[in-house]
Amino acid sequence: MSHFAELPAGIRPMSAWPTAATAVAGVIGCPVGHSLSPLLHNAAFSAMGLDWSYLAFEVQPASLERAIAGAAALGLRGLSVTMPHKDGAARLAARRSATVRRLGAANTLIFEKRGVFAESSDGDGLLDDLREGAHFDVAGRRCGVIGAGGAGRAAVLALADAGAEEILIVNRTPSAAWRSAALAPNVARVGRPEELSGLDLVVQATAVAMAGAGRGRGTGSGTGSGASRGTGSGASRGTGSGAASSLGAEDRSAGAEDRSAVVAGVDPAWFGSGQLVVDLVYDPPLTPFLLEARRHGASVRNGLGMLVYQAARQIHLWTGDEPPLSVMWAAVGGEVP
Ligand code: NAP
Repeated sequence: MSHFAELPAGIRPMSAWPTAATAVAGVIGCPVGHSLSPLLHNAAFSAMGLDWSYLAFEVQPASLERAIAGAAALGLRGLSVTMPHKDGAARLAARRSATVRRLGAANTLIFEKRGVFAESSDGDGLLDDLREGAHFDVAGRRCGVIGAGGAGRAAVLALADAGAEEILIVNRTPSAAWRSAALAPNVARVGRPEELSGLDLVVQATAVAMAGAGRGRGTGSGTGSGASRGTGSGASRGTGSGAASSLGAEDRSAGAEDRSAVVAGVDPAWFGSGQLVVDLVYDPPLTPFLLEARRHGASVRNGLGMLVYQAARQIHLWTGDEPPLSVMWAAVGGEVP
């Protein structure tokens, strides 16, 4: 048990911290300089009075196996895994949860005495956010997922397990879409983009509108962790929830991307009132895709909530404790729904 437990929550004696006993966790990805995970996890650990620290590690694809073995050798307690390492992390783990075995992808590694255990909290994080943030119950609803990478597959599996009536999958590469549909053969099928127009829920799970995507955004030395982005104060990232959100700095930031709102052949002008459109991207807070869907009357939500809830589940997996969601939301400039 940490001696910090005797201190008021949120207070750490920085001059004496970290110590040799500080537990270390982190995120591996490439790039990883955009990640909000260090802000999110460190805020939670601090508020929980835990002697834990969370860092960001940029790991090139060719170095993944050595990075995981090195993390285990160094005694790291856990790793979050982001693009493009989710499939590799699942493959390299000694043991996998049932969800990871089905998905073939992991976003969480837990370093145990018996070896590295792989879990995925993405799907449950999405469901948590749909329920808590959007007050949307998936059971019996008609859903669509754009994208069939790790996040898209996690969404399909979670929506199916939560009782979706139908899941339509649209992806640039058909073979990946078929692989995703095979996760839930009773309810999922590969479809044409136009078929998404009448669905209750559409989840945009490609990285197309992600800030920095395809722009060779630098993540090199000196900027590696999310801490370089500041503390989330100032312009709120918000959740983009609800059709009534006002246009503000978020919208201008998305507009500045000067990118088509059409993703994988899906025109967000097809969406409208009565539909919920979720973009798993959270930077920019409102992608061109979400802005356009909202302009046509759809309720929209970005990926910030999923980020918070999947991280909360990771912290529970690593520490056994429940993290304070209000602190985590505040750390990334959002608000508890
Ligand atoms: P991934 O495994 O690399 O998959 C990428 C997906 O995007 C694939 O379906 C790919 O299609 C598609 N894609 C990429 N470029 C495209 C383009 N130019 N046009 C059309 N489709 C394109 O990535 P991932 O892990 O699934 O992540 C996807 C997104 O979800 C990322 O933005 C990530 O940040 C976000 N995400 C958010 C959270 C959260 O907590 N909010 C969690 C996980 C992921 P092909 O199959 O044709 O290549």
